[in-house]
Amino acid sequence: MRTAEATRPSVVEPGIHKYELTFPYPSLAGWRWPVVDIVGQRPGPRLAVIAGVHVNETSSIEAAIRLQRAFAPAALTGRLSIIPIVNLPAVPLRTQYVCPLDDKNINFSFSGQPDGTFAEAIAWALLEDWARDADCFVDMHGGDLCENVAHFTVAQMIGDAAFDARNLDLAKCFDAQIVARLDPSHLRQPARSCTGRAQRRQAAAFAEGGRIGLIEEENVAYHVEGVQRIARYLGMIADAAPKRRQPAIIDRYLWIEAPVDGLYRYAVEPAQKVAKGTVLATAENTYGETLATVTAPEDGHVLWRITHALAPKGSFIVGLGAS
Ligand SMILES: [Zn+2]
Repeated sequence: MRTAEATRPSVVEPGIHKYELTFPYPSLAGWRWPVVDIVGQRPGPRLAVIAGVHVNETSSIEAAIRLQRAFAPAALTGRLSIIPIVNLPAVPLRTQYVCPLDDKNINFSFSGQPDGTFAEAIAWALLEDWARDADCFVDMHGGDLCENVAHFTVAQMIGDAAFDARNLDLAKCFDAQIVARLDPSHLRQPARSCTGRAQRRQAAAFAEGGRIGLIEEENVAYHVEGVQRIARYLGMIADAAPKRRQPAIIDRYLWIEAPVDGLYRYAVEPAQKVAKGTVLATAENTYGETLATVTAPEDGHVLWRITHALAPKGSFIVGLGAS
C-alpha cells in the first residue's frame, strides 16, 4: 500500500516548501491539498497547523495564509507545516459545517477511519499520516456564515496531570477570552482534532474566533499570534507578541437548543458573562408574537451565538461555557 510519506517531496532542507499533499485512502482519491512546510535552519520541534475544516471561517484561513510569511527559515528552529483549507469539497458551494460528500462534520470525526467516508478518512489522514510526528497540532476555527464566535480555545484533558497542564499551556498561548477544558469522557467518541490527538497522547490546541464568514483583522491577529506564541512555547522562535487578557476557564460546554421553530432575537453577545436565568434570546412567530424565552440554565460565559434570526426547533442557537 502506498503511504502518504511516499507522495510527499523531501522537506528536510531549510527553506519554504510549497506542494500538494495526497493520501492513499479510497475516499480521498483525486484530492490534492496545498500545503506549506517552513523548515528552519536548525532541527527542532514540528508544529502542524490546519484551518478550513469549516470553509466559511475565513479569518482562520487568512491566518493560515499569513503564517506562511510570518516565519523566516533563518529565525526558525524546527518545522512549521500548514494546511490552509482542509475541507476542499466544501469550497465550491461554501458548505456550512459539513463535508458535502458525506454530510458529516469533519470537526467531530477525529480520530477518523482510514476506510471511512471523506470526513472520517481526512480526519484519520491528518493525525495518522500528516501530523503523526508533530509536537503540537493546531486547528483554527471561528465564525461560520450564521455565527458570531468569542475568542476561545478548547483544551482536551485526559486525566494525566503533566499532559493536561501542557495542553492547557498551549490553549493559553492564544489570547483567549475563555478557555474550555474538555473532560476525559470526550475521548470515547468521535470528536474534535484536539480530542483525537489526546487519544494518541499527543498535544494539540484548538482555537475559535471569528464571525459570519468575514476576514477581520482582530480575528486574524488572534489566530496568527496564538500560533506564534505556541512556536515560542515550543522553542521554535525567540519572541512573540505579549498577551493582553486573562481567560475565564470553563469545564463544561453547553449547547443551547431552539425550543421552537421561530424568529430569534438575541439578548447576549459572545464572551458575555451571564447568570443563571439571564435571557439569551426570545423566539417570535411571523406575526411578531412571542413564542418562547430562552434563558441560561446556569452561570456561564457565551462562547458563540447564531446570528441568523431564523432557527428551527432543536437546532443549536447558543454555546455556553459553564464552570
Ligand atoms: Zn469551525
